[in-house]
Amino acid sequence: MPDVIQLLPDSIANQIAAGEVIQRPASVVKELLENAVDAGATDIQLVVKDAGKTLIRVIDNGCGMSETDARMSLERHATSKIRNVDDLFHLHTMGFRGEALASIASIAQIELKSRIKGNGLGTQLIVEGSEVRQQEPCTSPNGTSIAVKNLFFNVPARRKFLKRESVELRHIIDEFERVAIPHPEIRMEFTHNDNEVFHLEKGSFRQRIVSVFGKRYNEKLVPVDEETDLIRISGFVVKPEAAKKTRGEQFFFVNDRFIKSPYLHHAITDALKELVPDKAHPGYFLRLEVEPSFIDVNIHPTKTEIKFEDERTIYAILRSATRKAIGKFNVTPSLDFEQETGFDTPVQPQGPIGIPQVTINPEYNPFQEEENSSTRNQAPRQLTPQERSNQENWEKLYETQPEIAQTLQARFESETDENPEEAGTESTEAEPSTPARVAFQLHGKYILAQIKSGMVVIHQSRAHERILYETYLAALESHSTPSQQQLFPQTVKFSAQDAALVNELLPELQRAGVDINEFGQHSFVVQGLPMYAPNTDPQALLEGVLEQYKNSLQELQLPKQEAFARSLARKTAIKPDHRLQSDEMIALIDELFACKNPYTAPSGKPIIHTFTLSDLDKQFE
Ligand code: ADP
Ligand code: MG
Repeated sequence: MPDVIQLLPDSIANQIAAGEVIQRPASVVKELLENAVDAGATDIQLVVKDAGKTLIRVIDNGCGMSETDARMSLERHATSKIRNVDDLFHLHTMGFRGEALASIASIAQIELKSRIKGNGLGTQLIVEGSEVRQQEPCTSPNGTSIAVKNLFFNVPARRKFLKRESVELRHIIDEFERVAIPHPEIRMEFTHNDNEVFHLEKGSFRQRIVSVFGKRYNEKLVPVDEETDLIRISGFVVKPEAAKKTRGEQFFFVNDRFIKSPYLHHAITDALKELVPDKAHPGYFLRLEVEPSFIDVNIHPTKTEIKFEDERTIYAILRSATRKAIGKFNVTPSLDFEQETGFDTPVQPQGPIGIPQVTINPEYNPFQEEENSSTRNQAPRQLTPQERSNQENWEKLYETQPEIAQTLQARFESETDENPEEAGTESTEAEPSTPARVAFQLHGKYILAQIKSGMVVIHQSRAHERILYETYLAALESHSTPSQQQLFPQTVKFSAQDAALVNELLPELQRAGVDINEFGQHSFVVQGLPMYAPNTDPQALLEGVLEQYKNSLQELQLPKQEAFARSLARKTAIKPDHRLQSDEMIALIDELFACKNPYTAPSGKPIIHTFTLSDLDKQFE
């Protein structure tokens, strides 16, 4: 029997490869753009006609190619990016298979012009279906311009298979965005049928996102930042309440390359599950930087899927980083997160930064539209419900002295009036004689604060207990409070009875921010603790809470939720000897006065004593 096996001619092998790599015009766009980025370009233009069916041209100002390289670049397995197997594991560049250009050349007509900086002349190359038609020296700017014409001209079945123009264009836009977003240092332009689709100037990552998705995004981005030995995560999640019903704003970039990862996507949805409205998908633009040897990019021909060596750890870090970012944002929702000033957005207030341990906002409802910046510009600004209740409580405290209440009112108005644009307007005459807000800590136990009529002494741990009690109660009744994810989940173990009790309390615990799940016989795994008690030992905390809870339930006959909120508040409140900074004390006082009942601890014991000046004066008579 004669031998039957033959080597395929290169042109056919290339066409087969092309079937894998080039599915549609957008695939060409992706490959050309990635090559331009790899060539170190700082300026890239994409010109497309008829959704890529007639023309896709990418012009870059990158390193360019020599005459030989230009020719070589179209050969199969021709790449400047790997020399040996080891290189495969240390690649920082986008492409490395060395088959993109060869594949494209086998199914289209290519015009390539390239010049290396310093060379007088460049090279021009015309190739059709893998055959070189022309190669000659030419004048050309620095860098490379590659035009791909009449894609699939020799594969009619493929050409017929292409979708409507609008669909193909949508795919091209997707690919353009995926390259443009992680490369804000590159100026990028895209025109389709002579209409400008994108014109992106160089800038920060945030500016790039905003230029791609629109100015409204500037207010929606919550920064994420986390660095461990394994990975650096930076970028933004979209405020959960702004999450969309349709998918499409989910971007992971690993070493500046767009990837798809349902697994890592889950880390984000899980982190935000209580905050994102039903059926909506959280948006994010996250850059993950890892050692290239730590990932295997080669598992998919179009390289949008990658494999991490230690995916589970990355999942955990990503989830906790997201939680942390949102938690930080939730406790200080009015804070301005270093918004870009390059845009003409209204000036945002720059308030003092609250201290996370005590700056809680029980009124915060993540699903409620935030007061938008345009209403802030109308003076006088309305007080938020919390500020109003704050003010009312202060007023109540000074009920007997209306003139003090008045002064306080003036103080509140001037203090909450943080917008610099408003500062000069007539409506906000600040009282020059307003007392400075100072507070002192006494024996690590009491807070002394000056008020106009004298001073108040506040029992610090009872005050905190009151704040937490009301926060937890609100969490149990309406929305849950954020929890602080632990980097290393901990297993806790109880007696059979206590384990049954924990099981019964699981929903309450979770709502209050204890991320706990059953884990085998009498054990549970704790992945997060309430924001207010992040550094506590979960076992000790839960044992304490159970004990308190049983006590409140049996002896005091309190309803279940109250008993629980009370026990948790008692166990997570700051203890005596907890040192507080002045701004922490002031934040604590403000939170206390935002409570429904700031005067007594959940146990009924007093929190505040007032000493008026005349009381004091009497002592010195
Ligand atoms: P890969 O990018 O995987 O190496 P390609 O087929 O995409 O394979 O490109 C082959 C080679 O051609 C690249 O390795 C690079 O050396 C060269 N090349 C392609 N595009 C450009 C460009 N825009 N500027 C400079 N060199 C390029
Ligand atoms: Mg490439």
